[in-house]
Amino acid sequence: MKKIAVFTSGGDAPGMNACIRAVVRTAVHHKLEVYGIGRGYNGMIQGEIYRLFSHSVSNIIQKGGTILKSARCPEFQTAEGRKKAFDQISKFGIEGIVAIGGNGTFTGAEIFHKEYGIPIMGCPGTIDNDLYGTDYTIGYDTAVNTALDAIDKIRDTADSHERVFFVEVMGRDSGYIALPCAIGGGAEMVMIPETTTSMSEVIETLQQGWRRSKTSFIIIVAEGDDEGGATEIAAKVKEALPQMDAKVTIIGHVQRGGSPTAADRLLSSQMGMAAVEGLIAGRSNEMVGVMNGEIAYTPFHDTITKKKPISENFLKLVQVLSV
Ligand code: ATP
Repeated sequence: MKKIAVFTSGGDAPGMNACIRAVVRTAVHHKLEVYGIGRGYNGMIQGEIYRLFSHSVSNIIQKGGTILKSARCPEFQTAEGRKKAFDQISKFGIEGIVAIGGNGTFTGAEIFHKEYGIPIMGCPGTIDNDLYGTDYTIGYDTAVNTALDAIDKIRDTADSHERVFFVEVMGRDSGYIALPCAIGGGAEMVMIPETTTSMSEVIETLQQGWRRSKTSFIIIVAEGDDEGGATEIAAKVKEALPQMDAKVTIIGHVQRGGSPTAADRLLSSQMGMAAVEGLIAGRSNEMVGVMNGEIAYTPFHDTITKKKPISENFLKLVQVLSV
């Protein structure tokens, strides 16, 4: 293998730049030519492919976002789109690819690999931490810390004004961001898609707290919760308990930005290096993960189809420590 390429795709995540840097520098270390593909699968289709050198990735380890840009690309879901992408890859003589992204990115990568046989390794770049085969994904730790910082500030005002705050955090269909935010933020409750929390339970918890003279509450809501978003849930609470001053905060896209934490930089660097060394060793069609501190390789198929279970211990922590 002489030439490889790297791209970022799907939602951006802090640490993607650190991962790109690790891919480029590991490739250079092993005397491979390395190319960057801009704007995810779009750049692959349109030939937005350019050479990267060691100095191209200087001074980016601490930066959020992705220097390669990221985008959604519906055209890659068509056979014609993937044919165009393969023609571009072939034109540049690229023999291996590192894809940094989430579930959708790996679904596309698996199909592309099946159709054209090009070796592809994935690095899990998503704040959602919802990928099977790794304890943590790139950007997750930063996103949790960003959300927690906001929750701490909300707690100050919740306490001063004796209010109930419904704080919505990201995470798509998973509660991975919500759960540590609830534990670390000292929340009274957490509402996540993996468990069912009925509105009557929410109302009961608030009433019980109220009876114990608790005057402020923080309830963390994962954006994908079955009861709806924080706005919807707060509206139902206001209807049932008009005496409570219920407020909503949606933390939103701020969770995707910012300088990656030390944990994310370390994870991204480890994964980027392992992806390139995996390609050199003849691996393909796998996602690099870190499990129990060790590099682990999981077939794309498993990362896409298997569900990573939510920690029962973490759920218990929220329940026990909020009383
Ligand atoms: P995140 O979890 O952060 O949203 P993601 O990788 O899951 O990241 P998606 O937007 O779902 O983000 O997917 C990224 C891109 O992967 C899509 O825009 C599309 O180009 C490609 N992709 C997704 N699903 C498929 C598929 N079934 N076939 C081919 N390509 C796909």
